[in-house]
Amino acid sequence: MSDFAADPSHPRYQSLLLRHRLEQAEKDGLLAGSAMIAHGRGEAYDYLLGERTIPSAHKATVQALGTLKKAKRPVISLNGNAVALAGESLLMLAERLSCPVEINIFYRTPERMAALIGRLEAIKEEHQLEVQILGAEPNARIPGLKGPRANCTKEGIIDSDVIMVPLEDGDRCEALVAMGKTVIVIDLNPLSRSAKMGSITIVDELTRVVQNMLVDIENCVVDEAFSNDEVLADALQHIATKFTSR
Ligand code: ATP
Repeated sequence: MSDFAADPSHPRYQSLLLRHRLEQAEKDGLLAGSAMIAHGRGEAYDYLLGERTIPSAHKATVQALGTLKKAKRPVISLNGNAVALAGESLLMLAERLSCPVEINIFYRTPERMAALIGRLEAIKEEHQLEVQILGAEPNARIPGLKGPRANCTKEGIIDSDVIMVPLEDGDRCEALVAMGKTVIVIDLNPLSRSAKMGSITIVDELTRVVQNMLVDIENCVVDEAFSNDEVLADALQHIATKFTSR
């Protein structure tokens, strides 16, 4: 039972709600110790972006959706923060895209994996969703990565052609790109290594991105002239303009 009591009219309601989701997820054993730090870094950039979807991020979102829809074997990779913040809407999106999700976490322990799978299974049950959840029994490794964070599944991440990685770290993003995949990154920080490395980078807050995707899913066309460099440059320009205007 949620004890979240903030008033929706509060100017920081959305931010408080997301923090609450993470606090709860932390109590439920879904998160690694660094989860709040990663979220805080995202919040700082979101503040600079005006806490809204800027037009270039929406363009990248539509491009990402079109690319996922055209993919032969799309997959959505999920970490603890993604499940805690947007587990429901991500599973709804996966169902609409008819693609599996794969839990792929940096700090992998049996307890965290069980907690994350339990959360996703509960969401599936509650909303009667048909989505394959991969990651519980890894049978492959992402080449070029050391340790348990390289563990993944052949039928999910390894065989995918397009992979969406919300809130990914740079190393893993780089390793996935090196495998020849089209990597869709969701990251509020346009300067992160993941953002710069991704094939399509959505510089926007995860929960907003997934909501936008659910709205745009029937009307997304891949733009052959799409430039990820332009998307990143526009986000930085947007931040710079915010500093110089009142
Ligand atoms: P990199 O290795 O790519 O340079 P990093 O070391 O900053 O990145 P992490 O700390 O693992 O990587 O990742 C957190 C990233 O996720 C940050 O760049 C942060 O901006 C972003 N982030 C955090 N919360 C959200 C959110 N809710 N929506 C979108 N992005 C987020």
